[in-house]
Amino acid sequence: MDELREKLFYQQKNGYDRIDMEERLALEAYSADYMAFLNASRTEREAVKNAVAAARERGFTEYRRGMELTPGTKLYHINRGKAITLVTIGRQPLSQGAVIAGAHVDSPRLDMKQFPLYEDTEMGYLRTHYYGGIKKFHWITIPLELHGVVALKNGDVVDVSIGREPGEPKFVITDLLPHLGGEMMKKPMNEAYTGEGLTVLIGSAPYAGAGKDRVRLALLSILNDLYGITEEDFLSAELAVVPSYEACEIGLDRSMIGGYGQDDKVCAYAALRALLDAEAPERTCVCMLADKEETGSEGVTGMLSDAFESFMEELCQAQGVALRRCFENSFCLSADVPSAFDPLYADAFEKRSTAKINYGVGILKYTGSRGKHNTNDASAESLAALRRILDENQVVWQMAELGKVDHGGGGTIAKFMAQRNIDTVDLGTPLLSMHAPFEICSKLDCYSTYKAIRSVFTAR
Ligand code: MN
Ligand code: MN
Repeated sequence: MDELREKLFYQQKNGYDRIDMEERLALEAYSADYMAFLNASRTEREAVKNAVAAARERGFTEYRRGMELTPGTKLYHINRGKAITLVTIGRQPLSQGAVIAGAHVDSPRLDMKQFPLYEDTEMGYLRTHYYGGIKKFHWITIPLELHGVVALKNGDVVDVSIGREPGEPKFVITDLLPHLGGEMMKKPMNEAYTGEGLTVLIGSAPYAGAGKDRVRLALLSILNDLYGITEEDFLSAELAVVPSYEACEIGLDRSMIGGYGQDDKVCAYAALRALLDAEAPERTCVCMLADKEETGSEGVTGMLSDAFESFMEELCQAQGVALRRCFENSFCLSADVPSAFDPLYADAFEKRSTAKINYGVGILKYTGSRGKHNTNDASAESLAALRRILDENQVVWQMAELGKVDHGGGGTIAKFMAQRNIDTVDLGTPLLSMHAPFEICSKLDCYSTYKAIRSVFTAR
């Protein structure tokens, strides 16, 4: 019977029981690099800049129309500063399809409104409109940084970043003291804190002299000194506050990583590094880092935009290949984070089907919610091909599902890639506290995600 059990049962093992010392050292080194990327990439624009810097170091050049595409050519193409596609041309023509890893580099945050600045009771505030799915109370009384751009009428774009560098001031949203919170604490959590209430305190010292709005004037004067902007320039700005938490190791054993924006920069970094490390691939490899996933992938820098076709079509044309031929033979990994099973909230999960910390990269046949709505439901054949590649390359992996069938769900860019007639499978690093200002993953799962994507890039 033991033999039969061994043969017939599917046994999962903790990743730490499956890797050797060499792998442990590799995952530590990889995790350190990832944390540095995460700290420096607070917004999609910053992530794109850092991806470009990393790619240029490895010999990638910016795509120019008409450039020669030969096996091994490494190029990147930026979409409006907020999304990027990086490509290594394979030995086979694009008619054989590309291997694509798509992730997103936007994360939940609080965007400034276009009339953000006001003064109340001689304190200065910024009004916000939150971006992505958040639990609002998370954003109260935590240190915040201001990031983004202000586009001026003369065409100049001013980069704004306050609170990231050591010694820089930070910002905060205040809370009501519990002593007076009796009524508030009786409210359901989604009513106790409101969207309009997510208003950021940014200063309190009045401008010297007499008259109204002296705090607002003082704050505008500081912004004018720093960036040369006036209040009117907020009209064409994209500014956001993000949590000011430094990515760090979590646990006595340092086995986990905590940080802001791991959804989905943990997979974005894995896809990027996998592409940079995939030397001379058989098929053309593509790393697509998209914007706007957290708000539904709409907008010109989201995965629903035609920007991806437009760029891929140019590559295809350079090889005399029809884009549709390329897409129908392509394979895409939609690299985005699934939830990890959390025993503190066990009721929300079906334990057997949910990813577990340290059991490796999570593979999802489907995402979506309530009856598989809004999902790419990957084919059995695609999953079988992926299983083979991951096992051949000793990748630690596990099947994953978001949570209990009737509890809700979420989507990824997978369905938008499938819409393009590209076979697509979801995969990603399981997270605890997803969409909180400080998210947790395991180093082993983080490294396994990179290894999985690299294996698919380099598979024969
Ligand atoms: Mn995501
Ligand atoms: Mn998300």
